[in-house]
Amino acid sequence: MDIFEKCERFTLADQLRNEGIYPYFHALETRQDVEVIMEGKRRIMLGSNNYLGLTTEPTVVEAGIKALEKYGSGCSGSRFLNGTLRMHLELESELAAFVNMEEAVTFSTGFQSNLGIISAIVGRNDYVVCDRENHASIYDGCQLSFGKMVRYKHNDMEDLERILKKIPETAGILIVTDGVFSMGGDIAKLPEICKLAEQYGARVMVDDAHGLGVIGEGGRGTASYFGLEDKVDIIMGTFSKSLASLGGYMAASHTVCDYVRHNSRPFIFSASIPPACCAVALTALRHLKAHPELPERLNALSAHARKDLRDAGLKIRESETPIVPIYTYTMENTLIKAKEVYEAGVYVNPVLPPATAPNECLLRTSYMATLTEDLIDEAVGVIAKVLLSNE
Ligand code: PMP
Repeated sequence: MDIFEKCERFTLADQLRNEGIYPYFHALETRQDVEVIMEGKRRIMLGSNNYLGLTTEPTVVEAGIKALEKYGSGCSGSRFLNGTLRMHLELESELAAFVNMEEAVTFSTGFQSNLGIISAIVGRNDYVVCDRENHASIYDGCQLSFGKMVRYKHNDMEDLERILKKIPETAGILIVTDGVFSMGGDIAKLPEICKLAEQYGARVMVDDAHGLGVIGEGGRGTASYFGLEDKVDIIMGTFSKSLASLGGYMAASHTVCDYVRHNSRPFIFSASIPPACCAVALTALRHLKAHPELPERLNALSAHARKDLRDAGLKIRESETPIVPIYTYTMENTLIKAKEVYEAGVYVNPVLPPATAPNECLLRTSYMATLTEDLIDEAVGVIAKVLLSNE
């Protein structure tokens, strides 16, 4: 059999292109901002994870340029060997202090962080217990580990307990959950998760990709939001969202971080974050520390958007975060509406199976602290007009 046969059979993307409703890989001609030029036309950006709008913050951009000039374009090696800059260490220690953990370890991307943390920590006789709506990189981290992966129903604590009960007492257990769920925007039930973890001798890891800079005291994330920093064992996060860069991290105790530093293959055998990205993440973190009003503004604008969407008569998936999904139900309707909204000047992301149940497809809108109420009103007006028309 020709190994490329599956590629020949994969015709869906071409089919959608031919129908004019293919929603991916639209090219931007400007920077990631609240308004962008995409394929020659102005679009209001309601599909970015640039929650604090720091990709265009002058001090952040300047720090990137300076680092590029001072340290060159790349590190050409792993953190383990020649690829550690003093700046990586500064970033790690300031980040650990920010999220109230002993130490932090940075990885080249957020995706790689999950691969690297889970595969190092979850060994042959261990169990990793995941929320069903966890991010793909968590699933892949589980696959890369030698342990057994078990999933519980989304944010369903009875189901989590049912699973924990069945795991042999002799096995190590890591419960992994998104802090803020990336597609639904809802928050993990961390108090209950931590309680169950204590009861069943499990450890807790939170993926705070969408929590850092967004919820908790001054944007310190999900553990801080619940006041549970001393109950969460590992916080994972990314620099590609609120911190306007590229890269990822884990924050945990010295022992856990040191184990990962010396045993995680995606960490050891991959080049470190380049100087410009490292400087951007560090400066963005300092900016966040100096501006605790930014997450507050972000949350106020998100609440404004939610109200606008509800008042317009749209059915949204309830959340308390800047991720506000709107139900569009079938895949076909979602693709058609995404295209129409895009043509009318607003960028949103369609969410399709397997990221949702088959007839619960969504348009995921997300908000930035640098948006204005006027821009949000304009965008919601466009979305409502498209979604509520039945032609
Ligand atoms: N975890 C979650 C919950 C995410 O949403 C993402 C990115 N979408 C990642 C991890 C991966 O992060 P990165 O894009 O920085 O690799």
